[in-house]
Amino acid sequence: MSRLTLAAAASALLAACLPTAAAAQRSPQPVTVVRVGNLFDSEAGRMVGARDILIRGDRVAEVGQALAAPDGATVIDLSGCSVLPGLIDAHTHLLLEQRDGEGLSDVAARDQAAQGDVYRVLSGARRGRQYLEAGFTTVRDLGNSGGYLDLMLERGINDGLVPGPRIYGSGPGLAPAGGQMEPMPVDPHHLVGAEYRIVVSPDDARAAVRDAVARGADVIKMYPEATPQRTRMSVAEMAAVVSEARRHGIPVAAHATSDAAIREAVEAGVTSIEHGYQISDGTLRLMAEKGVWLVPTDPSLEMALEFSSTWPQQPPREELERHLQAGRDRLMRAHRLGVRIALGSDLYFPYGPGRGAGARATLDGYVEAGLTPAQALQAATWEAGRMLGDDALGALRANAWADLLAVEGDPTQGLAPLRSPRLVMKGGRIEAGEASACAG
Ligand SMILES: [Zn+2]
Repeated sequence: MSRLTLAAAASALLAACLPTAAAAQRSPQPVTVVRVGNLFDSEAGRMVGARDILIRGDRVAEVGQALAAPDGATVIDLSGCSVLPGLIDAHTHLLLEQRDGEGLSDVAARDQAAQGDVYRVLSGARRGRQYLEAGFTTVRDLGNSGGYLDLMLERGINDGLVPGPRIYGSGPGLAPAGGQMEPMPVDPHHLVGAEYRIVVSPDDARAAVRDAVARGADVIKMYPEATPQRTRMSVAEMAAVVSEARRHGIPVAAHATSDAAIREAVEAGVTSIEHGYQISDGTLRLMAEKGVWLVPTDPSLEMALEFSSTWPQQPPREELERHLQAGRDRLMRAHRLGVRIALGSDLYFPYGPGRGAGARATLDGYVEAGLTPAQALQAATWEAGRMLGDDALGALRANAWADLLAVEGDPTQGLAPLRSPRLVMKGGRIEAGEASACAG
């Protein structure tokens, strides 16, 4: 084809497309009014009674009492149910499953070489759907994603290819030498480099943050220490990560378990501490002072019994209880000292009921520790939303994402209703359940 005919064809194509584009601009976004029986105010941490939610497109336009439905609006009657903002699991690994007895290098060899990216992303999509169906409309996904498969899955979900939660992904975690894999004298297939971004200096740390931002990361995952490796990031590297992330306006999540590593990360100015198993009261006080969130990734008793049932030797219940009690004590020390708590399940092993059910059960664990159901729900809504740094998350108010979950009964009196969500909406679209499930 000559240049001239090509140009003529292009302009003809453009002309043909123009009316469609104009029509698309004119076509109004869908308007929905949701009539709610009892709304959870996630900021206040309490039920506030009947409310109506006006939704335009994928956002909440207004929350009020007895709102009139605009002409042509769809009305969804949830007056027989309680409604919460869509739940947030702030520590997931959609692209990772570690089976009992496997090291992370075994998992990486399977994912990278034996099964490959396609199988891995399909598995991640299935897990994403499990979250959505359980009422988790958002996850913060923190690495072990084979490079940037988390962000590719996010794109697929955003483009409507598969159902799934909103993903706030990190890409590969920034880690000291070896990443989180068990020490390997040789790594002929570069397993470590395909799962982690190994940081070797403060300048390199800044470059790693910029690389993640350029790929579309919404959060930086950093490993001040990388158990079972003994390697640790330097204080200067951590400070470089935090300052570069701040310049780009994204939060930093730090995986840290020993008090020394947690303290260094908190002093460097991270947004959240993940796990924090051995944290001291002194470090918790510093976190409270600096507004650093703790993401306690401990299971509930029911979960611990479920996943240990597949082990060759299931530990006695008392031993599980003792182990869980240490986590509960840490959570309540943090809570009493004023540390903000956000929900994170950190589920990356096979769990029969599914990842979403596991995230919900992690909330049960927070209540077993001593939080009230309302405080646990705040950790999965208001607190997680603030930690992710998106004003549109974790609250049902004007300009928020129209993400919600309807359940029977009053979830602030006990979390049992969360086991069977009646309706899950994400971005104004019903993703699970029935619109008629809660009619009053
Ligand atoms: Zn994790």
